[in-house]
This record gives sequence, structure tokens and C-alpha cells, in this order.
Amino acid sequence: MSGEYKLLIDGKLVDGDSTMDVLNPATEARIATCPRGSARQLNEAVAAAKKAFPKWANTSLDERRKVLIRVAEAVESRREEMARLLTSEQGKPLKEAQGEVDITASFFRHAASLSLDPKVLEDSNARRVELHRRPLGVIAAIIPWNFPLMITAFKVPLALLAGNTIVVKPAATTPLATLMFGALIADVVPAGVINIVTDANDLGDVLTGHPDVAKVAFTGSSATGLKVLGNVAKSMKRFTLELGGNDPGIVLQDANPKDVAPGIFQGAFFNTGQVCLALKRLYVHESQYDAMCDELAKLAREAVLGDGLQQGTVVGPLQNATQYEKVKAYLSDAHANGKVIAGGNVPDRPGYFIQPTIVKDIEEGTKLVDEEQFGPILPILKYRTLDEAIARANATDYGLGASVWSSDRARAKEVALKLEAGTVFINKHADIAPHIPQAGAKSSGLGVEIGEEGLLEYTQVQVVNEAL
Ligand code: NAD
Repeated sequence: MSGEYKLLIDGKLVDGDSTMDVLNPATEARIATCPRGSARQLNEAVAAAKKAFPKWANTSLDERRKVLIRVAEAVESRREEMARLLTSEQGKPLKEAQGEVDITASFFRHAASLSLDPKVLEDSNARRVELHRRPLGVIAAIIPWNFPLMITAFKVPLALLAGNTIVVKPAATTPLATLMFGALIADVVPAGVINIVTDANDLGDVLTGHPDVAKVAFTGSSATGLKVLGNVAKSMKRFTLELGGNDPGIVLQDANPKDVAPGIFQGAFFNTGQVCLALKRLYVHESQYDAMCDELAKLAREAVLGDGLQQGTVVGPLQNATQYEKVKAYLSDAHANGKVIAGGNVPDRPGYFIQPTIVKDIEEGTKLVDEEQFGPILPILKYRTLDEAIARANATDYGLGASVWSSDRARAKEVALKLEAGTVFINKHADIAPHIPQAGAKSSGLGVEIGEEGLLEYTQVQVVNEAL
């Protein structure tokens, strides 16, 4: 199978300087041997992107839009195959993988609808001042393993629309769907405009430290984000960092536990909880605490755990062995410091499976509550007053997302505006679309991704100020 997947460098599909195995997290069996890029190949990709930049930057916006549409069509044309491959390497249920392929195409289509027209700031007898948006150059896109295609699509179309070229580096355990994407678009995009190079989690530094990279668009953990920040600071590169989160959800006293439980469950357990914007700790008023815990426990017991390729699977495996070990440690913490009322076990079968788990009678000061679990375990905390719940929800260095659950919309919005998060959802948790920007507050990130605001982050302001 090693010949099946190729890197994309300078418009050519090429083998890696070495190979690496990719496993199916539901079986731990090898799906494919795929190319592993080297530092030499990464440098080649940056050089190709640099060479392609002047011409691409000078194509008309309409021409770039047409290319983005053709990329969307190429993705759509192989939807089923791509979704199955994504499930095989990432673990998510097939339906979610299909959704990820669809949203990937929609990000390309949406970018093609955006404009970057210059703005006239003043046109008077004294002067004419225009604000232009210029491309930056070569962009480095660094992708995590939870949404390999969708997060690539957060970055590539906006970077390209603005006139930049790009080098994409997928995560080591989920390169296959991205390489398939590369093969599909190799003839659609001019040579060097999009390059894809894999690594075994060892080339990030080379890419973020490369002198010819103008901007790093990074999504991943906060710990790695700090390393990226250190590297980009040395050469004054532009950057966006989309990092981790520990999103709180607050259920207001008026909410009906039965009504809100399915949305909360979805927000916490989608993609096996491996979502930056997953609901990671839930605050419930003491008067409803037991009822809410019971509803969520029921849903957790009913959720079918299994191979994402099997029909009916709701919760798949953890994506990789490292994350599996991390989440097992959170499970031990849950048993030691709280009361596990659903799940709580590691099934005796191959694959990185952990039962969807609900934990009550747990407090701050425990690993499960204070850290980002990034797995299928939800701690539920009891509060007495709303002010106290808001203060506890905000008492974290993270600030990615949050949610408020209530049948009183005005009250919910009032609470939402008091939460320290880049996105606050009301009666849902995690809702991503190509026109809705995402920006982490506090340690959850720097800069904005997605939408018109995200597009601007791939540009340099240039003011043309003319004496009249
Ligand atoms: P990670 O930080 O380990 O890896 C992310 C990417 O960074 C991978 O491609 C990896 O190879 C690369 N990398 C590793 N070392 C690097 C270095 N020194 N320099 C540059 N790149 C390097 O994260 P992960 O474990 O793959 O992903 C899970 C984390 O990502 C979670 O914390 C999650 O919250 C976060 N995440 C955030 C968002 C968001 O939009 N905010 C989205 C998805 C995931």
C-alpha cells in the first residue's frame, strides 16, 4: 500500500524520503504505509511555495475564486471514499466523517464568495487615502488529528483567496485523508500553490523556523502553541494560534433537564470529546443536579461505542495511543475524586476505546475538571448561585468556548456576555460554519480564524496615501 499515498510538492505527487505506518484506532491494525516527509522535502515545499507566490498573488481575485470552487468540486466528487478513509484513520463515526468532508468543501466554496476590495478612507481636496490588503507570502498550516480535513479547510481557502501560497503539515497519526485531498487537487491548483508534507511529529520546528515562511497558522495544543510562538517571534512572522480549551457549560435553573440533555451530550461527546470546542465541564444548579446527572447518564449508557465504520456507532475510539493513555489517566482521576454514574470502563477489546462516562460529585482542584480531558468523560459540578457558577466557569486560563442552557433567551444572553470565551453558545455547544469567526480568548489562542475576520489575518494592510 506504500505507493498509494504521495506528498504534494511543487505540483508533483512524490514519495516521501521514508515511510511510516498509519493505524486504524478502532482496530490498531495498519491501514497503510504512507510517505514520511523529511526536512529536505519540507524545504523543497517551502521553496516551491515561494516560487509560486508572485504569479499566484498577481492572478485576479476571480481566477483564485474559480480555483477554490474547483477544489470544492474535487472534494465533493469523492465524498464517500474520502469519508471512509477519514473514519479509518481518525476513528469518528462515518456520518461525522461525511459531515467533515461536506464542511471542508463548503469552506472552499464560501471563501470563493468573499471579497478583498480596497477601501477608500478619504477622498478630499487634501488627499486620497486607500487601504489595500496585500498577501503575505508562504503560509505554514499545521494541523492536529481531530479534524484533519476541516481544520485544513479553515486555513487553505482563505490563505489562497488572499493571494498567498501554502505548505500544509498534517498530524502524524492522520495524514491519509489530507494526502488524498492533495492527490485530488494536484491538477486543479497551479504548481506550488498548495503543498502537503507529512512528518512523524518531528518537522514542526523546521517549518515554523523557516526564514521563507511569512505566517504560521497553527491549530493544536497550548503546549505546542507556546513552542510555535517562541519560534515565530525570532523572525517576526505573522501567526494565528488556535489552541486548547476547557469549555464550561452553565445550565440555568429554568432549563428543563430532559430538554437540554441531548444537546449537552452532543456538545461533550461529539468526535469522542476530541474537539477543541467541546463542552468539558458542566455547571448545574443544586435544585436540578440529580435530575440533570440522571438524564446525561442515561444518554451515555445508550450511546453505542464502536468502530466508526459500523452503522449505529455514536462514539468512536480515541484517535491515538498517546491520547488514549492520557484519557485513561483522567478516568482514574474520575474514579478517585468523583462518583462515576455511567461508563467508567475501558472495554477489553482491540482499539483505543473508553466508554462514554458521566462523573458527578466532583469539584475543581481535580485533573478532570481543571485540565482539558479531550476525551469522552464529562464532569458535572453543582452550583448554588449563578454568580458563583459564572466565577467558577471563568476561573481558568483557557477561553475558547462556553455555553449557557436556558429557556429564557434574554437571561441566557446576559450570562453569555459575562463569560470569558471567544465563542459563547446558547442552548447548543460547538457550531462551526465558514462565515462564523473563531477566536480563542486568554490562553486558548491568538488571532482569528474563519470568516471575513479570518481572511484579513492572511493579509498585510497597505495604505496608499496620495497628496492632491
Ligand atoms: P499537538 O499540539 O501535539 O499537535 C498539533 C500539530 O502540531 C501536529 O501537526 C504536530 O505534528 C505539530 N507539532 C508538534 N510539535 C510541533 C512543534 N514543536 N512546532 C510546530 N508544530 C508542532 O496537538 P494535538 O495533540 O495534535 O491536538 C490536540 C490539541 O489541539 C488539543 O489541545 C486541542 O484542544 C487542540 N485543538 C485546538 C483547536 C482549535 O481550533 N482551537 C482545534 C483542534 C484541536
